[in-house]
Amino acid sequence: MLLPFEILQSIFVENFNKMKALQIILYSVLSGILIFVSTPALRQLIENPNFMEFREQFIFFTGICTMIFMTTAMLISLRIPLISKYLKGLDKAYSVHKNLGLAAAVSLSFHYLAEDAPKWLYNAGLLKINENYLSENNNEFFHESGLLAALIAFFLIIILLIITQIHKIPYHWFRSTHKIFSVVYLFAAYHAVLSLIDRHWQFSLGGILLIFIIFLGIIASLVSILAKIGEKRKFSAKIVKIDIFCKNILDVYLSVENQEFKYKAGQYVFLKFSFSSEPHPFTISSFDMKRKILRFSIKDLGDFTHNLFNIAKIGDEVEVEGAYGEFLFEDDFNRQIWIAAGIGITPFMARLDYFSTNKNNKQIFLFYSSRGHKNEIFPKDLEQICSLNNVKLIHVNTLENQRITIDFIKEKSGDLENASLWFCGNENFGHSLLKWLKFSNFDMKNLHYDTFNMR
Ligand SMILES: Cc1cc2nc3c(=O)[nH]c(=O)nc-3n(C[C@H](O)[C@H](O)[C@H](O)COP(=O)(O)OP(=O)(O)OC[C@H]3O[C@@H](n4cnc5c(N)ncnc54)[C@H](O)[C@@H]3O)c2cc1C
Repeated sequence: MLLPFEILQSIFVENFNKMKALQIILYSVLSGILIFVSTPALRQLIENPNFMEFREQFIFFTGICTMIFMTTAMLISLRIPLISKYLKGLDKAYSVHKNLGLAAAVSLSFHYLAEDAPKWLYNAGLLKINENYLSENNNEFFHESGLLAALIAFFLIIILLIITQIHKIPYHWFRSTHKIFSVVYLFAAYHAVLSLIDRHWQFSLGGILLIFIIFLGIIASLVSILAKIGEKRKFSAKIVKIDIFCKNILDVYLSVENQEFKYKAGQYVFLKFSFSSEPHPFTISSFDMKRKILRFSIKDLGDFTHNLFNIAKIGDEVEVEGAYGEFLFEDDFNRQIWIAAGIGITPFMARLDYFSTNKNNKQIFLFYSSRGHKNEIFPKDLEQICSLNNVKLIHVNTLENQRITIDFIKEKSGDLENASLWFCGNENFGHSLLKWLKFSNFDMKNLHYDTFNMR
């Protein structure tokens, strides 16, 4: 059973993960306040300090916040390099995107409740108020259709968010249903603009700002609906070699001849194979610049990767989109500690490959946990490549219950001060590591991590 302290501890660490999301949510609320006070809403509230006026302006404010949360989430989903860089990689950007979705659901619930709850209470005889306050001020088509659009948006968002949270739902279902969000956004945008026009506030400073934000969101949702995300970074490649390492790991080699392909070690691309309807992210584990061949080391982790083992063949065309990612090993430390778990070894393979043309001048320790003995590890030549490039490999066999812990890391590589830490592996290990580091007073800004998760 978890002790209260451990619960607090885990919440704290979880929150560390969500710091960026909280920061963006806070900025969004501040922008919402700025827009609110730049419309006549505040003046109206001061002039009529009563419950129904408060309700009216609360509906307006929560509406503004919902639109800002949704627009920011939409913009993040466009995979714009500047935004991903600011958020330290697409995986973290998706985490912010998800939390903005949750924030939108919360503010939308308040928006909806503030609109309807007084009517329910009034009808139940629990709220005594002048009936005129609750009846809509006009019945025009635009007003009614705006409200209907908001209602549809509200229920769709709640359903879609529930789907997002249930990890048992296969990723491709999650992805297809997720696309509906862009359409939902258009409903919400329609309602928001009509509400502004209804109040005659569209030409106030706040009204203009809100319309501008909604305009950006509409562009983002159209880009998404028309499947144009990442369009400029897409190109075609061909499978030239497939190497099966063991029953659940294979290497796929893609030729990107005739392409101006730019990439940094540690980055990944989205690969869309002809037999699959959706692109999947994979790290480039090496790049032969002369022959222009990309290597991907892929583990069978689900439906798609399982099919890959049976269906992919030499000569197949593959659509590549990228490269993306900020897990680039670039810092000013002379000592780096790398921690890889399972197939999380791929960005480290890329960096080792980079050392074949760029001398390693840092002291590097690579902690690698995998199932099996050192002589069975993937890739076969890892030990040799590490020793050629002055990287100390410390392998841990999880089948023998060996584990990488902070004490183990300190014992093998010395103090964690004056070192940066690079982790790639599964989420559970990542969370434990964050927890240990937090309680070892490690400076978290020197921790770089990638959990191969975008959901
Ligand atoms: C940045 C990044 C780099 C990665 N690099 C590698 C690598 O080098 N080698 C490797 O073996 N695996 C890598 N992965 C993981 C790989 O993308 C998934 O294992 C694969 O997509 C699983 O698909 P599936 O249908 O077989 O499994 P599923 O059971 O359907 O999915 C398992 C999990 O994989 C993720 N996932 C599935 N499909 C997608 C998708 N289309 N887009 C985004 N995420 C998806 C989701 O988190 C999902 O919960 C990487 C993932 C990310 C995010």
